[in-house]
Amino acid sequence: MNTSDFLVVGAGIYGATAALELRRREHSVTLIDPGPLPHPLAASTDISKVVRMEYGQDRQYMQMVDAAIDGFVVWNAELGETLYHNTGVLMLTQQPMEQVAYNWESYKLLLAEGHRPERLDSAAIAQRYPAWNAARYVDGFYSPRGGYAESGRVVSALQALAQREGVSLHEGQTADALLGTAGRVTGVRTREGATFHAGQVLLAAGAWTQLLLPELQPVMKATGHPVFHLKPKNSALFTPPHFAVSTADVSRTGWYGFPFHPREGVVKVANHGVGVRLHPEQDERVVYASDIAHLRRFLADTFPALADGELVYTRRCLYCDTLDEHFWIDRHPEREGLSVSTGGSGHGFKFAPVLGPLAADVVEGKANPWAAKFRWRALAAGTHGEEASRFHGKG
Ligand SMILES: Cc1cc2nc3c(=O)[nH]c(=O)nc-3n(C[C@H](O)[C@H](O)[C@H](O)COP(=O)(O)OP(=O)(O)OC[C@H]3O[C@@H](n4cnc5c(N)ncnc54)[C@H](O)[C@@H]3O)c2cc1C
Repeated sequence: MNTSDFLVVGAGIYGATAALELRRREHSVTLIDPGPLPHPLAASTDISKVVRMEYGQDRQYMQMVDAAIDGFVVWNAELGETLYHNTGVLMLTQQPMEQVAYNWESYKLLLAEGHRPERLDSAAIAQRYPAWNAARYVDGFYSPRGGYAESGRVVSALQALAQREGVSLHEGQTADALLGTAGRVTGVRTREGATFHAGQVLLAAGAWTQLLLPELQPVMKATGHPVFHLKPKNSALFTPPHFAVSTADVSRTGWYGFPFHPREGVVKVANHGVGVRLHPEQDERVVYASDIAHLRRFLADTFPALADGELVYTRRCLYCDTLDEHFWIDRHPEREGLSVSTGGSGHGFKFAPVLGPLAADVVEGKANPWAAKFRWRALAAGTHGEEASRFHGKG
């Protein structure tokens, strides 16, 4: 009989961090995932994810990432390899920054929080970051605290660490139905025919979560977003200190990029925009010719030295998009024994080191200063996304 205090469904970053933390709080924990792990279609499985404190006027997100960066540094030591790279973050704009709310508000809040971002004009951009088209990008700042995490390697290392610390990890198990009564959930049955029983079930299945709990479909959806890997002719131009994690007027274009990846030998570029709505299991995840044409126009305009770089890999990856773009981490209001930790909305990975303790506090019913933002909430159909860096389309 598979019985434990906590059953965590989904071993991406939301599930793996929760399982590890609950185990460290001396609960018996079971973690299930269809695998192989890290799952190739999981959002967490990638060569890099941005870690930035810049969230416009949102002080809570800035403080959470500030704490998460300390956590990543601890993980670098604990996991025995550098998986978080503090390259700093470049936040550049095509107009004077005062006219771009996301960048201007982030800049002011960084200063108010005691950080030291360096404002940059065209001349400074051209001199320090020659890959950029400084005629187009005329203002912005460099934030020395931030960078990227090698997300797939982080989640893989945490899955292994959780197992070493006693989490019972079942790869090859796909939750299919919740067990119990309407008022109390007692476990899950899997597609593979197994049953897992637990005092508490935590659903952390990313973009698939709404399939397991259809009542969440009105407040969250799966959206697909393109990712591109390019081989630069001159990798030195895209290597720190000449380059950093970069946002190219992101709130108005969606575009962002990473330095030349030391292990993979590529420059990753992606778009944090509206995306296309997809069914996590039934729809194909395709990057269209129009996406690649859009990419080439962006590169020609912003990173001329990469405009004709060889495109060696593309992927359409899924966000678990809540309507307001804030995470969903809470106990079910009516069903005992059931909790949810999901809703990364395209910006959740950077919080990895603080996600586990936050989810564990919530499922244990303990107070957490950050939890209210992610509570179970009613969201009307027309709710607008609030994640400040996200490009929400023209007009
Ligand atoms: C293109 C793209 C770019 C992004 N860039 C960034 C970034 O730069 N910075 C940042 O902070 N965030 C970024 N994000 C967001 C971040 O990746 C996600 O918020 C985070 O990884 C979500 O983690 P998760 O654990 O919720 O989901 P996932 O990583 O998707 O994991 C869900 C897991 O659940 C499992 N599962 C699914 N169904 C079942 C089932 N029925 N039973 C059991 N297990 C199941 C899956 O196999 C999977 O392993 C990006 C996301 C995308 C898609």
